[in-house]
This record gives sequence, C-alpha cells and structure tokens, in this order.
Amino acid sequence: MSDVLAVVEHRRGSLRDVSFELVTAGSDLVGDTGGDLHLAIIGGDVDAFAGELSLAGVDAIHTVAEGDEFNHDVTVQAVEALAEELDPTYVLMGNTVNGLDYAPAVAERLDRPLVTDAIGLENDGGLVVTREMYASKVESTVEVDADRAAVTVRPGEWDATEEPGEPAIEAFSFDLDESRVRSRVTGFEEVGSGDVDIADADVLVSVGRGIEEEENIELVQELADALGATLSSSRPIVDNGWLPKDRQVGQSGKVVTPKFYIAVGISGAVQHVAGMKGAENIVAINTDPDAPIFDIADYGIVGDLFDVVPELIEQFE
Ligand SMILES: Cc1cc2nc3c(=O)[nH]c(=O)nc-3n(C[C@H](O)[C@H](O)[C@H](O)COP(=O)(O)OP(=O)(O)OC[C@H]3O[C@@H](n4cnc5c(N)ncnc54)[C@H](O)[C@@H]3O)c2cc1C
Repeated sequence: MSDVLAVVEHRRGSLRDVSFELVTAGSDLVGDTGGDLHLAIIGGDVDAFAGELSLAGVDAIHTVAEGDEFNHDVTVQAVEALAEELDPTYVLMGNTVNGLDYAPAVAERLDRPLVTDAIGLENDGGLVVTREMYASKVESTVEVDADRAAVTVRPGEWDATEEPGEPAIEAFSFDLDESRVRSRVTGFEEVGSGDVDIADADVLVSVGRGIEEEENIELVQELADALGATLSSSRPIVDNGWLPKDRQVGQSGKVVTPKFYIAVGISGAVQHVAGMKGAENIVAINTDPDAPIFDIADYGIVGDLFDVVPELIEQFE
C-alpha cells in the first residue's frame, strides 16, 4: 500500500489544469498497489476549490487556509507539515513555475529524493518514473531507490479527472513559522504581451514554417478568426520574430491542452509535439504525407496550406 499526497495549484482564483491532471496521476499511482490519494490545497478560496476537486479517486482533501496566492515559504512549510502528519509514500507536485519553485525545498526538508518532469509513473515494488532526455529525443526510466520520494509531474501528460466523487474534506492547520516567511506576493503581472494565454484556449490554430513568409501569417490568423480560435505557432515562427514568444507551443514554449489543435505547415518535431500532444483533437495540414505530425493527428489534410486554408475560411465563414 502506498499513499500519495498531491499538491494542487491555483492562480488568481482558479484551479489550474494541472490540479486535475495530478488527480489522475495520483489515482493511477495508488491504483497500482492500493493506498489513499490525498490532495493538499494551500491558500485562496480553499473551500470552493475543495468542492471542485471532489472527484473520483480522491480519498481526502486537506485545505490549508494560508494566504491568497502562491507563497514559496508558506507552501514549503504547509506541505512539510502535511507530509509529516500523513506520511505519504509519494508527494506529487506540478512541474510548473510554482511547483519547481517549492518542490526541491520540500524534498530537502522531508529528506526524500526528488524526480522532476515525470511523464509516466508506475508503482511496481518501487517507484518507476518516465522522463525525457536530449531535447525529448530519448525516454528514460528512473527506478527510485528509496522508500519515499517526491515527484513533479509534467502538465498535459495525464488526462484531467472529471468524474465526481466524495472525498473527506478536512481543514489542516499547522504552526506557521513567520520567521521563515521571507517573501510576500505584492502584485501579479502577466509576462509577455499579456493579451492571450494560449494555454487557456479551447481551439488553437497553430502556424509553422510551412507559412514561408511573415506576411502570410495573416492568412492563418484569418482562419483562427473564422473559428473563434487563438493563434499559436511552432518555434521557428517565434525565432524569426514573426510572433511573440508567448505564442510558442512546445518543449521550450507552452504546454497546451485545447479541444482542437489545428497544425498548419508544422512538421511535428518531438519538441513541438511535447507541447501539444495532450490536445483532444489534432488536425494537421501539410504537403508532406510522411510528416510526423500525421502520426498523432486525428484528422489529416495532405495539401498545400495556401489552397486548403482559404477553402476552410470560406467554409467556416
Ligand atoms: C532544445 C530544443 C527545444 C525546442 N523547442 C521547441 C518548441 O518549444 N516548439 C517547437 O515548435 N519547436 C521547438 N524546437 C524546434 C524543433 O526541433 C523543430 O525545429 C520545429 O518544431 C520545427 O518547426 P516547424 O514544424 O514549423 O518547421 P519544419 O520542421 O520546417 O516543418 C515545416 C512543415 O511545413 C510543411 N509545409 C511546407 N510548405 C507547406 C505548404 N505550402 N502547405 C502545407 N505544409 C507545408 C513541410 O512539409 C513541413 O512538414 C526545439 C528544438 C530544440 C533543439
């Protein structure tokens, strides 16, 4: 039996998608050997969050009403105190900006090894973590040689749990050591242009190097407009300065999980696929029938985007 404690995330009053993915990852892990899945919610409207996270597979939700937004020092102390009380075999956290901020400190305080950026987890007489190496070209398997461990989980790798459940909801309090709280959130500022967050979009139309020239991006923008979608891109488009960095999907860009992802003139390199393979439906438009993007596409159009895209715009308008 192995209990799991998963630490969920919220930002500006909303739970982040990774919270629901952590529920799936945690359920799978306890499902391997039995045990309980505990969630920790720290700060913000913890009661409302607990309601949203009352999902199948969750045994208990621990609400920690400390602070409104993420605070490294509070989070470390809260997770440390909870883990000491529950003694879970595994502590799961998001491989996110916040998760990577506090996970090493939590692991150090609990004296556990930390494996970051997991894309697969298995409990087979011990923890086995799948990761990617060499710019996502190689998958590696890490066999954790310890009874207890901490892991950060890559967003977009597990489906989000949606089925309702009836976990116990318990307020958790601990003695916060104020002398160890050395940072405070004083404001929130979106990075980049701030006009869109491609990670929140339901439909993404993504443009790649097949577009050839900067001025041709307008054509793909028109398709996005016709669909009420958001425009994103592969890396060369950003490297060329044709779109801002916050539009880039992929390993060094953003991980996205839209309902529809339309890849226009994108080959499907592993570093791009790392950011979009969690999309529910993938549509690819490419002249090359052997382009790797077709290996993961649900619908494929082999054709010249300069013919196909105007036709689609006409149909959708
Ligand atoms: C460390 C590292 C990190 C990286 N991170 C990222 C990342 O975050 N995101 C990312 O995207 N890439 C990333 N890359 C780059 C990645 O390896 C690829 O180079 C990149 O994804 C390719 O972009 P592309 O598919 O737009 O271009 P290409 O690979 O050049 O593909 C263009 C495609 O368009 C098709 N095409 C051409 N003309 C037409 C036409 N008229 N109509 C239809 N189709 C056409 C071609 O058949 C081709 O398949 C990273 C690389 C490294 C090394």
